[in-house]
Amino acid sequence: MATFNQPLGGNEMPRFGGPATMMRLPAHDSAKGLDVAFIGVPMDIATSNRPGTRLGPRQIRDESRMLRPYNMATRAAPFDSLQVGDIGDVPINTFHLPKTVEIIERYYSGVLQHACIPLTLGGDHLITLPILRAMAKKHGPVGLIHIDAHADVNEHMFGEPLAHGTPFRRAQEEGLLAQGKVVQIGLRGTGYAAEDFDWCRQQGFRVVTAEECWYRSLGPLMEEVRTQMGDTPVYITFDIDGLDPSVAPGTGTVEMGGLTSAQGLEIVRGAAGLNIVGGDLVEVSPPYDPSGNTALMGATLLYEMLCVLPGVLRRD
Ligand code: MN
Ligand code: MN
Repeated sequence: MATFNQPLGGNEMPRFGGPATMMRLPAHDSAKGLDVAFIGVPMDIATSNRPGTRLGPRQIRDESRMLRPYNMATRAAPFDSLQVGDIGDVPINTFHLPKTVEIIERYYSGVLQHACIPLTLGGDHLITLPILRAMAKKHGPVGLIHIDAHADVNEHMFGEPLAHGTPFRRAQEEGLLAQGKVVQIGLRGTGYAAEDFDWCRQQGFRVVTAEECWYRSLGPLMEEVRTQMGDTPVYITFDIDGLDPSVAPGTGTVEMGGLTSAQGLEIVRGAAGLNIVGGDLVEVSPPYDPSGNTALMGATLLYEMLCVLPGVLRRD
């Protein structure tokens, strides 16, 4: 019988001790032999406001130390049937954004050669563009579940095509997204024009504003999303600023009136049963996160993504 990596338990080493890998899993040199790899992208050179997401992966790993293997709500037991490891960080070029985007795409193309599902610790949201480029080369256009305060579909920012507010405009232009299978949840705040989210709707994206989510369970929404996605390969991209700043203040572009932490869990848990091929959690900025709770929220959402991957057993 195969043996699977387990998170180092709190009775073997105090939770504040030892190397800070994601969930205190073994560190691996590459994705070889792994079903799922946690990967950090320590990048903030595409941010438009507060910086700091370059420090996100380290802080998410550190705050993941309390996560235990079993999911008490969903009964998922991801470490009973999947080989999961932490393969470290992508060595970006912090002085050169276009080169960094190329480095990330190449890195993920390598990971995907190993039939391994990447779960990524960001990093600012531009990292999702090169990841989707690698995904599309392997899977073709993917469905997208995008949680965010922002649509991230700007044509340019300060004249530049690559910025953390442009990835999904580029992804759509490049044909990386499955048509009719993109949903954006949590959009809100102020815009440059009243029509700012209309470009998304014109592309056939489903836009669910934060106001449509207020005071409700998102279980029924996710039921619709599962029908919409069918068996298409799906990528989950979770910008932590989709959550309300009362629970996730440590991020660069804060907007009031966001999703609750329970709604964040409902979205990810509601993706169970889909053909998920990867996911990321982006925009955690530790300098603005003195309690560490934003990073902890990020770590928890990444764990919940792990729990809904194909092949995870449930101990019902
Ligand atoms: Mn974003
Ligand atoms: Mn955002």
